[in-house]
Amino acid sequence: MDTELLDENFEWDQYERVVVLSPHLDDAALSCFGLLDKLHGTVSRLVITICCGNPAPAPTRGKVDQFRQEHDLGDYGSPTERRREDIAAMNALRCDFVHLGFEDGVYRRSPTSGDYIYRSTREKFVRPRIEDASHIEELFLVLRRLCQNMGRLLLVTPLSIGYHVDHSITAHNALRLENDDVDLLFYEDFPYVLDPSYGGGIEDSPEKAMERIGRSAEQRYAIPVDPAAKAKVVGDYKSQVPVLFEDDENLRTALSTRRFQGEPAEFYWTTRPRTTPPPA
Ligand SMILES: [Zn+2]
Repeated sequence: MDTELLDENFEWDQYERVVVLSPHLDDAALSCFGLLDKLHGTVSRLVITICCGNPAPAPTRGKVDQFRQEHDLGDYGSPTERRREDIAAMNALRCDFVHLGFEDGVYRRSPTSGDYIYRSTREKFVRPRIEDASHIEELFLVLRRLCQNMGRLLLVTPLSIGYHVDHSITAHNALRLENDDVDLLFYEDFPYVLDPSYGGGIEDSPEKAMERIGRSAEQRYAIPVDPAAKAKVVGDYKSQVPVLFEDDENLRTALSTRRFQGEPAEFYWTTRPRTTPPPA
């Protein structure tokens, strides 16, 4: 498949706005900096970050809480601190944003048993868990309110490379929002697209991620990125850079890894339902 330049292949003036769905505080900047930066002054841009909520105070419920304290809830920054980091990054991008108050998947509990739904932030699965259905529906209703009947828009959503449950739920809900006025564009979850060791250690790819959400590739697009400019904005996520990249040098290396025609780039995909044969 030939890759095309993204900004040359979309008629931006047909869109009321471009909406980027960010499962967590940093996903939009990490994955879509190039797109958001390029479209400044061209079309209205809104980043909706989904999981920004303060977790409910943890009751002591034995082994599962202990597991989270030991393995998941390291020094990843408080929700308040992380929201401040995102505000700085969105301001640097001069981009509109909204922080929704949903809890991160690792904090969500079954409405019936009260137990945590996921053992860790990344589990290999095809569909999100049934105990998470009320969260998924609530999120869908909020996103529908924000995205439908608001004029024509391009909804930019993660492919969910890396098996993160919140990314997968975002992608599934975005597919439900597609209609005559809502076009979908998928982004490659960064840095999970680079190396499975960033995520759960499971090999993954854009194509495999598409398959999991019932889609196949239609067209791949690239947008060139200035790694220094992107590193400056990503650097606003001070609590996340050490967790994901260890230091600034590794961050800059990571941002230069994906390339198009020899230059650092981000990649985006349009997809079609997997059962539909390719157009003649
Ligand atoms: Zn994320």
